Parts: sequence; structure tokens; C-alpha cells
Amino acid sequence: MIADRLQRVQARIKAVDKNQQVTLIAVSKTRPVADLQQAINAGQRHFGENYLQEALDKIEVLQGQGLIWHFIGAIQSNKTQQIAQHFDWVQSIDRLKIAKRLNDQRPKDLPKLKVLLQVNIDNEVTKSGVSIDEIDEIITQFKGLTNLTLKGFMCIPNPDNSEQSFTKMRSVLNQYPDLDVLSMGMSYDLEFAIENGASFVRIGTDIFGKRD
Ligand SMILES: *Cc1c(COP(=O)(O)O)cnc(C)c1O
Repeated sequence: MIADRLQRVQARIKAVDKNQQVTLIAVSKTRPVADLQQAINAGQRHFGENYLQEALDKIEVLQGQGLIWHFIGAIQSNKTQQIAQHFDWVQSIDRLKIAKRLNDQRPKDLPKLKVLLQVNIDNEVTKSGVSIDEIDEIITQFKGLTNLTLKGFMCIPNPDNSEQSFTKMRSVLNQYPDLDVLSMGMSYDLEFAIENGASFVRIGTDIFGKRD
């Protein structure tokens, strides 16, 4: 089942991903390890998790299989140490304080932590992320954080107008020649996202089925 669904998602991506530059992140929050293992057996390597304790258990059990772990959930200060120790990517940085803590806590024997700034692209009060106006200043401050590599932006647009939001996100990225990663696009809008230059698409339900 999961292998079939995964294949369908891959086919959707392939149909629009002309330059073959898109990485599929399987969003596995709330899913049991057995489900992740099915996806792994079908070739999936990148996983996105939102809840730290649950993620740490999975990372431990599934170690040694060459997986790449992305933290994509809200980050409280008291969670940064373990995120810095166990993840390859953090996509959900929404304030400098969190970036500084991750930088200080990233173990020196690991590669730099790859990070994305979460942008509240539609300025929705219910969503976290920095506003477009704040990006410049935060990026300037990132320069001192030598244990992090800022790669680009992540956004979760309002589903009602996501195509316009993706276009906006793309034009923001174009202003920063050092950055080249956009994490955007979910089950219902991955085609729009890829047409606007998404590098990561984050898909949960279409791979693993409905969450309880
Ligand atoms: C849960 C989640 C997704 C995936 O959502 P689905 O509806 O399960 O496909 C993508 N991005 C983020 C940030 C999420 O929290």
C-alpha cells in the first residue's frame, strides 16, 4: 500500500519536475516505525518529523539505513539541543533565538546543520514564520552562526491561494544569490510548487494515508 502510494506521488512529481531537482520529503509524524520502514524499503530516504520525542525514537530504531531527517515542526527553546544533535535539516526556524541555540548546540563532530527559514508568506496570524520584511535582517544575523548553513526558505501557504504564494516565495529567494532551496508544496499543490521552483515537497497523507 505505502509503496504504491509512494510510487504515485513520485510519478506526479516526475511529470512536472523537468530538471529532476525535486526531493520528496515523506512527512511521517504520528506514523509508526513499520510504516516508515515500508517507505524505506520502497526507496524513500528523506523523512520530515514535527514532534521531537517521537522523532528521536524513530531515528534510533531506523539508524544505519542512510536516512536524512528533517525537523519541520514548531520549535520550543528547550528542544533545540536534541534537534541539533539528531537532525540533518531544520526547516522550521522562525526566530533568531532558535537559530543561535541550534548553532551553539550543534556537535562539532557533525557536519554543519542545514537550515531553512520558515516564512509566513501570507502573513497569517495563525501561522508561525518570519514575515517577508524581516528576512533581510535575520539573514544578516545568520552570518555569525558558523555551525549552521542557511540554505533557503520553507513556507506553508494558505491553500486557497498557494500558487500566488509560491510565486512570491520564488521571487524572494531570487533576491538572495547564496540561497537555493525552497521547501514548499504539499499533497494538494505540489505541481504548482514545483512549477515555481520548489526543491523539497513535503507529503504525508498521500504516502501514508489519513492521520487519525
Ligand atoms: C504535516 C505536515 C505536512 C504534510 O501534510 P499532509 O497533509 O500529511 O500531507 C507538510 N508540511 C508540514 C510543515 C507539516 O507539518
